Amino acid sequence: MIHVENISKSFDGQVALQPISLTFRRAETSILIGPSGCGKSTLLKLLLGLIPADTGRIRFDDVELSDSSVQQIRQRTGYVIQEGGLFPHLTAKENIALLARSIGWTEAVISARIAEIAKITQMPVEKLASYPAQLSGGQRQRVSLMRALMLDPDVLLLDEPLGALDPLIRSELQADLKDIFESLGKTVVMVTHDLAEAAFFADEIVLLREGQIVQKGSFEELQQKPADPFVTKFFGAQIDRVAPLLSAPHGSSPRSFNGGGNS
Ligand code: ADP
Ligand code: MG
Repeated sequence: MIHVENISKSFDGQVALQPISLTFRRAETSILIGPSGCGKSTLLKLLLGLIPADTGRIRFDDVELSDSSVQQIRQRTGYVIQEGGLFPHLTAKENIALLARSIGWTEAVISARIAEIAKITQMPVEKLASYPAQLSGGQRQRVSLMRALMLDPDVLLLDEPLGALDPLIRSELQADLKDIFESLGKTVVMVTHDLAEAAFFADEIVLLREGQIVQKGSFEELQQKPADPFVTKFFGAQIDRVAPLLSAPHGSSPRSFNGGGNS
């Protein structure tokens, strides 16, 4: 479990995140969603210890995030930051293998694991010798995902990991990722601005606005019992795109999002 207690962050006196408290439950997928600039990426970066919080604390199970624990926590945590975060001077394969090499995995084990996750993320293996700049946006995103999955972490923190993919590929990868999250019991915190994607993945949705939590709960709860007019407005603006994603073509069972209440 990830516990967030009174975490806040300002940049140059501008509040990006008000003090918020949240728990992300083990083996569940939590989705952070909200308008651009509402603090989603800031929260994810705070969870990763990439930026320091102004107040509060974050615990991964019983380990508090601090300068001395951050390396240990990152080894259990796969992450994709919004910008991708690949090292430009390393090939795709070197990016993916970096952490595994640093903790002493053999080349044979590394290659076997890379073959496995290339299949999962549908990354062409022959492209792994390329540098990030030589790859398409979608391929770079797959490489970022492969890097996050490499050590088979318990926790995945993903900032719009499917953002730059074209719709068809995106829909395929969504289904694959959902299988990975569920079958391997990952604790996932994923940022998206796309309500359809949120509905598809989320056990819990956290809707943010201007650095504050407006509402959290299941997709159905937010839709059927909005805590604030903003929730209704946010859902109203996107709901037309939710239906197709929740029905076919994915293998998983379609969810009713229109009052059926099955979740
Ligand atoms: P989101 O991911 O929800 O679009 P962010 O968390 O990236 O939003 O940003 C929240 C707010 O904090 C925005 O107003 C953004 O401009 C500001 N912000 C984020 N990172 C920085 C930074 N490094 N320096 C200054 N302001 C920042
Ligand atoms: Mg962002």
